[in-house]
Amino acid sequence: MTSISTSKICTKCGIEKSLEEFYKSKYGKYNRTSECKACVKIYARERNAKPEVKARNSANTKALRATDKGKSDSKAARRRYEESEAGKATRKRYAKSKEGRITDKKYKQSKHGRAAIKKYKQSKQGKAAIQRYAKTAKAKYAQHKKLAKRRGILFLLTFNQWYLIWRDSGHYEDRGKRTGQYCMARHKDEGPYSTDNVTIKLATENTSEGHTFRKNKK
Ligand SMILES: [Zn+2]
Repeated sequence: MTSISTSKICTKCGIEKSLEEFYKSKYGKYNRTSECKACVKIYARERNAKPEVKARNSANTKALRATDKGKSDSKAARRRYEESEAGKATRKRYAKSKEGRITDKKYKQSKHGRAAIKKYKQSKQGKAAIQRYAKTAKAKYAQHKKLAKRRGILFLLTFNQWYLIWRDSGHYEDRGKRTGQYCMARHKDEGPYSTDNVTIKLATENTSEGHTFRKNKK
């Protein structure tokens, strides 16, 4: 009478385990290896940690990757990982890290990076992204800052300060230079753009006031 066993004892750790915890093998008892998966893994890890084995493994991997099949296999594996949740999380974590930001900056300044950015900006997708960005408050802020710099006016407002001044005025949506629109004016049209030196005024009011001040100065 043959009894079908569902477990066996590992020859390494001596623990009785279910057959699923042993790798399949043609030669072992119940067609399983004599050592359990856990013990096999420990052994493999120890073996692979040896310098000579490490060197051989990396040489083998390198040689394999150099073949056409190896190239396409590793490319596919890489893509699979990049598209996986784990891969996305790793990328996100890296992009936020100090190292990641440095790498990103270096890349954007490199010949390759600059070419890629140029290509993207000219693509349909890139153009749409630029248009989307131009409508954001961040872009409006950057624009204002740039303009101030060009006019030689000190600009001390952070984005948050700038945005809150506009938002609290209730005229963020009516910014502009035409009649009925509002602008951020400096006190007496002098000094820097700073929290204690600006107010939101009607554009018409600001220009006339500006003219008056300029006239008085003459
Ligand atoms: Zn074991």
